[in-house]
Amino acid sequence: MTHGAPNDPYDDLDAFEAWDDRSLSQRAMAAAPTPWLEGLNTPQREAAETLDGPVLVLAGAGTGKTRALTCRIAQILASGRAKPWQVLAVTFTNKAAREMKGRLGQLIGPSVEGMSWMGTFHSLCVKILRRHAELAGLENGFTILDTDDQLRLIKQLLEAERIDHKRWPPRQLANLIDRWKNRAWTPAHVPAEEASAFNRRGVELYDAYQQRLRTLNAVDFGDLLLHVVEIFRNNPDVLETWRDRFRYILVDEYQDTNVAQYLWLRLLAGQRANICCVGDDDQSIYGWRGAEVGNILRFEKDFPGAKVVRLEQNYRSTPHILAAASSVIHANENRLGKTLWTEEEAGEKVRLIGHWDGEEEARWIGEEIEALEKGTRGLDPVNPDHMAILVRASFQMRAFEDRFLTIGMPYRVIGGPRFYERKEIRDAMAYFRCVTNPGDGMAFERIVNTPKRGVGDKAQSTINEFSRANEIGPLDATATLLADGAFKGKAAKSLEDLLAMLARWRARLEAGENHVELAEAILDESGYTDMWKADKSPDAPGRLENLKELVKALEGFENLEGFLEHVSLVMENEQEDGQPKVSIMTLHAAKGLEFPCVFLPGWEDGLFPSQRSMDESGLAGLEEERRLAYVGITRAEKLCTISFAANRAIHGRWQSALPSRFIDELPEAHVEVLTPPGLYGGNYGAAGHGAQRSGGSGGFGGNFGGGGNFGGGSRLEEAATRSDAYNSPGWKRMQANAGRRGMRAPTEARNLVIDAEAVCPFNVGDRVFHQKFGYGTVEYAEGDKVTVAFEKAGEKRVVARFLSAPDDIPF
Ligand code: ATP
Ligand code: MG
Repeated sequence: MTHGAPNDPYDDLDAFEAWDDRSLSQRAMAAAPTPWLEGLNTPQREAAETLDGPVLVLAGAGTGKTRALTCRIAQILASGRAKPWQVLAVTFTNKAAREMKGRLGQLIGPSVEGMSWMGTFHSLCVKILRRHAELAGLENGFTILDTDDQLRLIKQLLEAERIDHKRWPPRQLANLIDRWKNRAWTPAHVPAEEASAFNRRGVELYDAYQQRLRTLNAVDFGDLLLHVVEIFRNNPDVLETWRDRFRYILVDEYQDTNVAQYLWLRLLAGQRANICCVGDDDQSIYGWRGAEVGNILRFEKDFPGAKVVRLEQNYRSTPHILAAASSVIHANENRLGKTLWTEEEAGEKVRLIGHWDGEEEARWIGEEIEALEKGTRGLDPVNPDHMAILVRASFQMRAFEDRFLTIGMPYRVIGGPRFYERKEIRDAMAYFRCVTNPGDGMAFERIVNTPKRGVGDKAQSTINEFSRANEIGPLDATATLLADGAFKGKAAKSLEDLLAMLARWRARLEAGENHVELAEAILDESGYTDMWKADKSPDAPGRLENLKELVKALEGFENLEGFLEHVSLVMENEQEDGQPKVSIMTLHAAKGLEFPCVFLPGWEDGLFPSQRSMDESGLAGLEEERRLAYVGITRAEKLCTISFAANRAIHGRWQSALPSRFIDELPEAHVEVLTPPGLYGGNYGAAGHGAQRSGGSGGFGGNFGGGGNFGGGSRLEEAATRSDAYNSPGWKRMQANAGRRGMRAPTEARNLVIDAEAVCPFNVGDRVFHQKFGYGTVEYAEGDKVTVAFEKAGEKRVVARFLSAPDDIPF
């Protein structure tokens, strides 16, 4: 292990001795005052000071649950009841663990370094599993497969079984296996009701998959928990050692634990049950990944005599933001219901703005962020570190990333499309994995013909099949097959060379060569770097840069294994150079975080709430989406801006959308509808546009308040000043003009940005076809925008290139 803190005796027995010597200072601390308690309110103090027995803190967002939990750890350590490494603290992300460690360090000083058992369920389980790998049929150096590799392996399995991919997609089996693992079911535990899964072969394939993983000396994410739970279940002595070790258990974001995590906690808590869980049922947003909000609701039953603490004062957000969040979550039926109040000043209302399309939205947000940074919004200048864009789907990030690159606004992506998921990085890592774990078949498959070595599909499947049939790793399989003369010509030579290279690198690794140099050598000698040097595609230079970045990242680690483990666990983009940056992340990744200014783009039905969630899980899915909206709004401290676009390109296809139903659930009194100055100033101000617009079609008059709001040029020019922009007709007016249903009508009166240069291929009266709206007749055409009376969908304003003449439609 490379990440065990030096003070953890489990990693380093000498340090244990050293710690005992230093424990005097611990005892001194026990007598010292506990200033952190002073920063807590009464119920928070109760949570931090009730050290014996189970405690549940069940409270809304921003009420200081995490803070109370952190102070509780300080209290435990200061009281001398446990050493830092006897405290098990579970956080939802690695980032959260780092932050908590930082805060704790401020409270208790350097002894925080001994808190080596603070992390996510996964990272904690890896540490335990490494120590008992043999009890799970693994070797200590096992590899952690990511979802991509997992899928690859499942594909291989289905191929070997001659199962039709089309009818029985590998992803479906992967999801099924994940679901079972989340419930801590090994193949033997899967209950009879599930027997029909995956064409009645689910359990059998799950079993085969597990066997295959063992052969490869690998685990997937679900296994990390499952194996440890199994080890605990089957080895009471092992469990006892761990129970004895962890005197105190603390869990943040408890509402998002799944059954396996819950069992793991219960097993570890044992009779002592010094367990403190904090959470908020309204923020349960991982149901789709097997989280059971029921875990938090049954806590009192599972841990009899539990003290339940409720917190109601919110310290994070202004009353407007809190009111907006409360109003949205109020629409959920399945919730406990809580009261939240705050002493903060009212501040700005939640701002709401509609845009023509996703690009416009990104541009507006970019400008807004620049303005906020400069302090030209009538507010104090805002540091980019204090601004975040929280999206529902990661594809939304690209528009912001592009925008920020254009305007030179530094940004960071947290948990998004990650550096470590790029092809060249994955290839390079596969080489490293083959060296550290020769049994890693997934990695071998990835590199065996990358760069091209003339090892074709046939040779590869020969290796796979041989490896599977004989339950040996791919390297051994290849070596045996080579010895048997199974390959000819170039393939044989290449495979021989590859095996020799891998053996050489492994020898260097074992001889203790510096891992950064070794990594460079691997990339060079394998021909991988040269492959990209020779590549003439425009993205090759970027890939070479990334490879350099990868080697640079290695410097921060003691060895290759530690690095690989870090990547498989951390998967978070954290290149930090101290420069202030705007954060971009998904709503899911934003849990537990807070920012003074938050932008929530893409509030459109289908995107948010996500159509898929609703299709797959019905009302439960919708409620989970609504909790996500609640999480999003409650991340904001001072300024929260919600936006939507009438048109959006989703996976390369333009789609028109209705504003999210969650927008209807926002409370009128706490929301301000913005007329974006930058956006309208230009287009609307231009001579003639106003006239064209109002003369255009009835559609323009409809939604956003017709003439008054979007009408004449002069008014819109005035809107270029902040006060006017903010004094737009507002919610009331919008409602009066459009009504709630009108608000959700589609593309009529958005801030249309018309490309006047574009020549419209359609004339008034033409019959046209639109992918989504069907047939219609052109009523009005202007540049690239066309108003069409659709036969079924009514009148809509759409982009000309999404229309075709009915004759062009292939049937
Ligand atoms: P979430 O549900 O979003 O995870 P939370 O309940 O964990 O929120 P915290 O993040 O602990 O809330 O606290 C929210 C903010 O309020 C933080 O900035 C925290 O420092 C502050 N805070 C918490 N308790 C107090 C207090 N008693 N006095 C002053 N500030 C507090
Ligand atoms: Mg929290």
